[in-house]
Amino acid sequence: MANLLEVQQATKQFGSFTALQNVSIQVPKGSIFGLLGPNGAGKTTLIRIINQITLPDQGSVFLDNEPLKPEHIKDIGYLPEERGLYKSMKVGEQALYLAQLKGLSKKEAKERLKYWFDKFDITHWWDKKIQELSKGMAQKVQFIVTVLHRPKLLIFDEPFSGFDPINANVIKDEILQLRDEGATVIFSTHRMESVEELCDHIALINKSQKILEGKLSDIKRAYKSNTFEVGLLTDDHQSLFSTLNNKFSVAPADFKTIDDQLKLKITLDNTMSSNDMLRYLSEKAQVLRFNEVIPSVNEIFIKTITENE
Ligand code: ADP
Ligand code: MG
Repeated sequence: MANLLEVQQATKQFGSFTALQNVSIQVPKGSIFGLLGPNGAGKTTLIRIINQITLPDQGSVFLDNEPLKPEHIKDIGYLPEERGLYKSMKVGEQALYLAQLKGLSKKEAKERLKYWFDKFDITHWWDKKIQELSKGMAQKVQFIVTVLHRPKLLIFDEPFSGFDPINANVIKDEILQLRDEGATVIFSTHRMESVEELCDHIALINKSQKILEGKLSDIKRAYKSNTFEVGLLTDDHQSLFSTLNNKFSVAPADFKTIDDQLKLKITLDNTMSSNDMLRYLSEKAQVLRFNEVIPSVNEIFIKTITENE
């Protein structure tokens, strides 16, 4: 698939401190790309380079195969980490003003704002001042203004921070819909919960360096270990455990059940298939659970960072 955005070997120093070191990313068209990493990793610095707010010391950025240039700013919708709206201006007035700055006519801006304000159920805020809004409410307004001109690339820096779980979900659904309508999305986060359902591609940044990048399903496939979680109904846990422990690599598992099961994680080597194991287990006990263990993004994140320490 073609890439909408490519960053090639970007390096950025602040004095003697290196905030980004030779970081490259490839963001496929139509993807939701998660830029993940702990606080201070360099995510915002990279995002500011893509938005032409900061120049890299070395490296280059390409949008649609063209070197980044000032005119590209209108192709990008950017929600900065430090949110800021003019506090004493009225919500509607300000939204209209910002929309027109992005090239929309007043009529167009009004129509689209009406659509979004209805959608978020905030039409009654139109004549309120920004300073009267809670942080989460102001953030909703800023989200709307970011996406209103329908840019092909949307960049959200920590979009979920400051939102309660319900509103974070609203934003998550909107991001998915914007992608379905053709936008390419990059978002940064240091919290992994929001990542699973949202991203199809990720890059992990740690201490100014990229340590992992790719399609999320490929990464998960590479990190899984042929381990299966099983729940077995049997009269004699001890004896079944001994039998299985002699045959497989077995560890206790912890999941909730309503009845008393023997709960195990079983890791297979290459000599046995999962079907063979299932057949074997079903001869010894009633199999109530049998599923492959797929590592979560959080587990991959922690493992990769620890390995790179
Ligand atoms: P992240 O967004 O991943 O939390 P940042 O890109 O904001 O990380 O910051 C990476 C590092 O660069 C941090 O240690 C930060 O203090 C430093 N840094 C960022 N911007 C500046 C700046 N303008 N001047 C000096 N140091 C900076
Ligand atoms: Mg940041």
